[in-house]
Amino acid sequence: MRGRGHVKSRRELAAMREPGRITALALEAVQAAIRPGVTPLELDAIAEGVIRAHGAVPNFQLEPGYEHTLCVGVNDVVVHGIPDERPLEAGDLVTVDCGATIGGFHGDAAITVVLPGGDPERTAARQRLSDVTEGALWAGIAALASAKQLGEVGAAVEDHIEANSDFGISDDYIGHGIGRAMHEDPPVFNYRTRVAGPAVKPGLCVAIEPIIHAGSTETTIDDDGWTVRSADGSDACQWEHSVAVHSGGIWVLTALDGGAAGLAPFGIAPAPIADR
Ligand code: MG
Ligand code: MG
Repeated sequence: MRGRGHVKSRRELAAMREPGRITALALEAVQAAIRPGVTPLELDAIAEGVIRAHGAVPNFQLEPGYEHTLCVGVNDVVVHGIPDERPLEAGDLVTVDCGATIGGFHGDAAITVVLPGGDPERTAARQRLSDVTEGALWAGIAALASAKQLGEVGAAVEDHIEANSDFGISDDYIGHGIGRAMHEDPPVFNYRTRVAGPAVKPGLCVAIEPIIHAGSTETTIDDDGWTVRSADGSDACQWEHSVAVHSGGIWVLTALDGGAAGLAPFGIAPAPIADR
């Protein structure tokens, strides 16, 4: 369900900080714990513990029919992987998508981790897929900092993928506005579209989330009704941040440094959101 997106007031922008920060802390804890032998369900419990310890609620649990804190996509899983008891293995490509809600607002972010070991060539190829996808995310965020219209974000994501790889960009799964609902208007495409999209101005909050395939972008859905896999069994991954545009600039809500490290190569410094 897509809530109605709207231009957020200064007070609402300030309220977007905490769910983003807690989402980032949960993913930081996942990052610290992930290794071969750990199960996605164990990571799920770690993330839920962090979110609840901060008084927030895992917002994925608010989706009808979904009872977990994370989606964990291993290797050929594109999105919506349900955490299970299968231990992660050396060389696995693991996307962890997480969100939290507190104070009536939402955060949403995803990281990808390639576990060390495994077949060296395969592991290196997976790391490259993750690196190019993460690079595309930051190219999109950097574009948002100076964009007049939201379509410039998708163009920057597409340009980064095309300049650095022959990977495929999913057009089934895209980013979204975020605020009082996890999924709001406007849609945030990961490629050029015929429409330029809404104006980028203070009060816009979006989740930018390139989902990139090493092979074909065709997908299938498992019998569980959730798990989306690449039809040809090739690897896919996702990186995601929730980002706010405000009068002082942009702030990456789901990065603990506001995006300073990721934006530095673009010569952009994030601007903290004022208290009100
Ligand atoms: Mg997400
Ligand atoms: Mg999202």
